[in-house]
Amino acid sequence: MPSDFLQRVLFEDVNARAVLVRLDQVLDEIFAETTYPPAVQILLAESLLVVAMLSAGIKFDGRISLQLQSSGSLSLLMADCSEDGGLRGIAQVDEQAELPDSPQLLFASLAGEANLVLILEPSGGGQRWQGIVPLEGEGLNEAIEAYFQRSEQLPTRVKLSVGAGHASGLMIQQMPGQSDDPDGWNRLEHLMATVHVDELLEPDMERLLEKLFHQETRRVFPARELRFDCPCTRERVLGVLQGLGADELQDMASQQEVVEVRCQFCNRAYQFDQFDLNAIIQSGDEGGPTVH
Ligand SMILES: [Zn+2]
Repeated sequence: MPSDFLQRVLFEDVNARAVLVRLDQVLDEIFAETTYPPAVQILLAESLLVVAMLSAGIKFDGRISLQLQSSGSLSLLMADCSEDGGLRGIAQVDEQAELPDSPQLLFASLAGEANLVLILEPSGGGQRWQGIVPLEGEGLNEAIEAYFQRSEQLPTRVKLSVGAGHASGLMIQQMPGQSDDPDGWNRLEHLMATVHVDELLEPDMERLLEKLFHQETRRVFPARELRFDCPCTRERVLGVLQGLGADELQDMASQQEVVEVRCQFCNRAYQFDQFDLNAIIQSGDEGGPTVH
């Protein structure tokens, strides 16, 4: 079993599914060069668990992204995952601000004020889809449950647990359509309610699934590896630079021989010299692919 993985379980009679996610090295890589306050780290780890879980359900090549957008000191928290398990995430925190120490209080300070945004973005340039709801509940798990109840009427239960250096999450969700087992969902919900968050952090996750669902008819899919991955490219960074407009680019070009742009997610550096910058400015002047 890889250190970071996603495992799907299908309850065909109940017309429901479970998704279990475990993150370990991915968290090390994402947090390696960051100085996020502990509560922000926990909320970001929870967001990474959620997008990894939701990636199990996407049926196209692309990414699913979860964002918490706020006007407060934690202005943006973002996690995304590709259909093949490539995860990344960032938080934008006002360094002067004093954020609550506990993740519960941090969440409470955001609930009612921040928005929860889910974005599906096909990589082949297909239609982008976005859903926005006010952030509500006592934690991110409840916010996701409410989101699915409200937007897709899909009963969903989520448990998230973040420990020292690793994190795990379990989700059960009813799928659209009829069930052959009318009491099945109640049973799954009841089983889910018995899971203590500490249990989720135990190393043997297969045993937990077995213990929980041994009386249910189920199909367990092979575990799929999750990893840190940032899809940034020089072209995308170029697009962002173009979006700044000719004036700002001219300013940058006059101040620095070489402009270096670092990806916020993976810290990779992209360099643009005077020749590059002039080319970008000219492509904007000619009505090129400027992004506003
Ligand atoms: Zn990157």
